[in-house]
Amino acid sequence: MLAAAQEEAGRFLSSLPDRPVRAASPLDDLRRAIAVPLPDGPSDPVAAFRATVAAMDPGIVASAGPRYFGFVIGGTLPVSLAADWMVSAWDQNPGLYATSPATSVAEETAARWILELLDLPAGSGVGFVTGCQMANFTALAAARHGVLARAGWNVEEDGLQGAPPLAIVMSEEAHVTIHTSLRYLGIGLRKAKLVKADAQGRMDPGDLQRILATVSGPAIVCAQAGNVNSGAVDDMEAIADVAARSDAWLHVDSAFGLWAAASPSKKSLVRGIERADSWATDAHKWLNVPYDCGIVIVKDAAAHRNAMSVKASYLEQTAGAERDEVDWVPEFSRRGRSVPVYAALRALGRGGVAEIVDRGCAMAERMADILRSETGVAILNDVVLNQVLVRFGDSDETTREVIARVQRDGTCWLAGTVWKERAAMRISVSNWATDEESIDRSAAAILRCYRSLS
Ligand SMILES: *Cc1c(COP(=O)(O)O)cnc(C)c1O
Repeated sequence: MLAAAQEEAGRFLSSLPDRPVRAASPLDDLRRAIAVPLPDGPSDPVAAFRATVAAMDPGIVASAGPRYFGFVIGGTLPVSLAADWMVSAWDQNPGLYATSPATSVAEETAARWILELLDLPAGSGVGFVTGCQMANFTALAAARHGVLARAGWNVEEDGLQGAPPLAIVMSEEAHVTIHTSLRYLGIGLRKAKLVKADAQGRMDPGDLQRILATVSGPAIVCAQAGNVNSGAVDDMEAIADVAARSDAWLHVDSAFGLWAAASPSKKSLVRGIERADSWATDAHKWLNVPYDCGIVIVKDAAAHRNAMSVKASYLEQTAGAERDEVDWVPEFSRRGRSVPVYAALRALGRGGVAEIVDRGCAMAERMADILRSETGVAILNDVVLNQVLVRFGDSDETTREVIARVQRDGTCWLAGTVWKERAAMRISVSNWATDEESIDRSAAAILRCYRSLS
């Protein structure tokens, strides 16, 4: 079985440089190939596996490859893919030290390395979750615990009914996963106060101060490092100053932006981010580990643990120095998703992570430079990180038509967005393997599609 898997995986990975980035088959063909009747009985597993791969291959998007620029999607470092295979082969359920001592120690080591690499406070609580959505949720659960405990309220025991009013202050540019987190936490959306953002999407610290001045009692501020469209980073020093004056909990959604802290040349962009109380980030974006892996970090480890920990008589938790992973995440049974992170950091070291971040930024700049040299093409954002927003001609229709043609062409893949009320092409360089050749080939395809309009 595993030899067959190695062969199929190898075939797929070696097809990445040449296969169209978009899926080859439309929905109806995929249903015909994949949605076969439920078999009555067993068949040869190797044949069933081969048939599964063959049926799915035409609907696979080459997002693991170097010319996929949609959303914010990383690829997979070979070392992390290999480690992920071992996670499946070992099939541990690392909720507790008792169920997988090795995974527990790998996880606490990866957690410590992450704090060192990103220059965040030693001793912070760290949890490995499915993605930044759950990292935001977990961090805000810790925040809810922390600010209400200071007000003398135990939210885990007593819930939110009758609790002191909780003020949530966030940027009008906050990512949608902050909104869903507030829904899951029983805080709700309508009560959140929105802070104005500037032309790049950065929260206005003056407006934040004005809003916080109207708040008395427990408050949580949600800032952002890495706007999902522009890549812009909030002014963390100024926001940390304002939040500290109001004794507010400062959370930063930094799904990809936090990784700038790992690069000596980009670190100044996130200056002050270490002054926050909690951070949510992804490993499956810029660190390029396989899906799914997000990371939540909380400075007050006790608040983090109190918000998440599980106690039950049958769990046999060891009361000593061992890490029970279940205490730091919303999941109960789970995958050893920290192992591919451990392997990536062990292989890359500080220098290797910095190189991935620097290359991503340099490739985004290269893309922007090539595109903006064409008449009628405008770059809408300051390219400070790995994100590029592009506008073609002078109408939303032109931009949308270029995007549709690029998607059909298949040389690369990207999608559209609306930025400051105008349609834009959105390019995110998040794959470790994207190099000059990938950018030049993709930019040529984009310009070919644009010129084909006239
Ligand atoms: C991607 C992203 C998220 C959500 O992360 P998932 O890993 O998809 O759950 C949250 N915030 C920002 C800024 C993002 O870019």
